[in-house]
Amino acid sequence: MTVPTIDLNSGHSIPQLGFGVFLVPADEAEQAVSEALEVGYRHIDTAAIYKNEEGVGAAIAKSGIPRDELFITTKLWNDRQSGEQPHEAIRESLDKLGLDYVDLYLTHWPTPEKNTYVNAWTKLIEIRDAGLSRSIGVSNHLPEHLDRLVAETGVVPAVDQIELHPAYQQRDVLAWAEKNGTKIESWGPLGQGKYPLFENPAVADAAAAHGVTPAQAVIRWHLQKGFIVFPKSSRKERMEQNFDVFGFELTDAEIAAIDGLDPLDGSGRVGTHPLDFN
Ligand code: NAD
Repeated sequence: MTVPTIDLNSGHSIPQLGFGVFLVPADEAEQAVSEALEVGYRHIDTAAIYKNEEGVGAAIAKSGIPRDELFITTKLWNDRQSGEQPHEAIRESLDKLGLDYVDLYLTHWPTPEKNTYVNAWTKLIEIRDAGLSRSIGVSNHLPEHLDRLVAETGVVPAVDQIELHPAYQQRDVLAWAEKNGTKIESWGPLGQGKYPLFENPAVADAAAAHGVTPAQAVIRWHLQKGFIVFPKSSRKERMEQNFDVFGFELTDAEIAAIDGLDPLDGSGRVGTHPLDFN
């Protein structure tokens, strides 16, 4: 099965579907990522704060898959944004992953009260220029943060990885991204199992019409909206299910019905608001 790719502003491309490892414990990460690679995933999304980069790296090493067939993302944690710390942090992440470079390095949160996210971005630019990450981007950045990064450095993030699912669509961030050529990565794409998406008739009916599960219908919604998506599961049958999303296509009406699930007042959010994470 060939996963479509999305072109990034760096000139590199990213597989649109990947595997995320948030909350996968360190001692289970190697097995989970090994299974994901067996299923066919080639894009893995981790972060320093997930504390499972070693397990991800061990699975990569064991797999024997050529490096250039993999797309590996990791993230700079919030307490390493100031001074030269991002340089130390990427080297630590690369050591743990057992890699010479990552494909994508992100600042994890803007933590605006600390006011260090612009410094972090200038260091990510140096990290990219040093060849330690092919592409660089951000996570959880709102238009006001993105505007500041571009105004102060002239460099537009390749991606913004934000909480995004049918009940929380962040249309202001999507509009910024569309205008500036930044691609959107959806975190919590299934609502982290916390938002009752799967029972909703718009999702359940679309799933029934195509003979797929509600999770598959939601992943398909992300793909057809042009988002990059990496659902997480530690269970192999769900990894397989979440990867098996290229044999059907939602209709325009089904997409529109799922588009309509966002309460628009922000109440569908399942994670922390970026302005509150400091
Ligand atoms: P998710 O929406 O992918 O939800 C994962 C949960 O959904 C699983 O634990 C499981 O309970 C359920 N699930 C998965 N597949 C299913 C299936 N087929 N059927 C039924 N239930 C299923 O949430 P997530 O893990 O938070 O997000 C995905 C990835 O996004 C993470 O692993 C991580 O890589 C990334 N992420 C990034 C940030 C950030 O701040 N940048 C925050 C959270 C997550």
